[in-house]
Amino acid sequence: MEILDILIIGGGPIGLNCALEAQKNNLTYLIIEKGTIVNSLYHYPLYMRFFSSAEKLEIDGIPFISTAPKPGRQEALEYYQGIARQKELNINLYEKVLKVSKTGNIFDIETSKAVYKAKNVIISTGFYDIPNLMNITGENLPKVKHYYTEPYPYAKQKVVVVGSSNSAVDAALETYRKGADVTMIIRHSGISENVKYWVKPDIENRIAEGSIKAYFNSEMMEITENTVVFKVGNGEVREIENDFVLALTGYLPDFEFLRNSGIELQGDCLNPLYHPETMETNVPGLYLAGVVCGGKDTHLWFIENSRVHAQMIVSNILSR
Ligand code: FAD
Repeated sequence: MEILDILIIGGGPIGLNCALEAQKNNLTYLIIEKGTIVNSLYHYPLYMRFFSSAEKLEIDGIPFISTAPKPGRQEALEYYQGIARQKELNINLYEKVLKVSKTGNIFDIETSKAVYKAKNVIISTGFYDIPNLMNITGENLPKVKHYYTEPYPYAKQKVVVVGSSNSAVDAALETYRKGADVTMIIRHSGISENVKYWVKPDIENRIAEGSIKAYFNSEMMEITENTVVFKVGNGEVREIENDFVLALTGYLPDFEFLRNSGIELQGDCLNPLYHPETMETNVPGLYLAGVVCGGKDTHLWFIENSRVHAQMIVSNILSR
């Protein structure tokens, strides 16, 4: 069986960037991706806009030409999938990595389809596969969505949006503009400071004028077929009529996968242990790249500041 120089788990923007770096340096590599190329982006809301401008999303210096100052999902799909196609990157799709183990200096990578061997493994699995659950009764009802795609199913519906970050705010504004009756339930005292600077005044003004109702310092307690129950700041419990809940409370890396691969997770945020200059974890030859590095703190890393990981990792591998 061939022993690869590098096996890359996850074909997101950063996994692709690692592959480009390996290719340039004549290392043998393979990306294993459980969905399509840049699978997380494929599952983003259809009409989303990145907060980064196009040049900040570029990998390997390949120009990202966008017709708008901030590209949308479709342009990003064209850009990243186009790179994988034109550079003929080695990538196996619809194949999930189940287990990474090490015997001597060689990793065994077990997937849903085969077993591979590699001298080095890069985990670039992102954080978009596991919703950060509210853990309340009714959360598994069909009317509760942890991923928002587009506003049209929610026209003339009573929609509760949980959360106040970019995803929640975009969903609240889009569904309101397609005729939904929107109520936001927000744990914090205001809209998140991370919300795109050109969107924040829009949501704050819609709330101030009463077009979108918002309960701050409030927490969801229960979801029933026709209502939601939540506690507001002063401790009062309220129940309102409801058709759909968009629980956009964030997403988490697959901590079990990281732990099972031998990576130490530290502190309350379960920060994976890695060397900040090489991205190598406590398991020699096992590297982390991209937004998976932040543990529960998923606002720490994005494409624009984690695209450097590819060079750091490959130069560390070449130096040994
Ligand atoms: P991902 O793109 O998430 O790639 C991980 C890949 O690993 C996925 O394709 C997944 O299918 C695959 N995978 C996971 N587990 C396995 C497994 N076991 N086996 C095989 N494959 C697996 N960042 C910016 O810089 N600018 C922005 O404007 C921006 N906007 C964002 C908007 C939204 C709605 C979200 C959710 C995030 C945004 N981010 C943005 C943050 C971040 O940059 C992106 O999440 C980006 O996709 C991260 O790239 P990545 O390659 O690290 O991870």
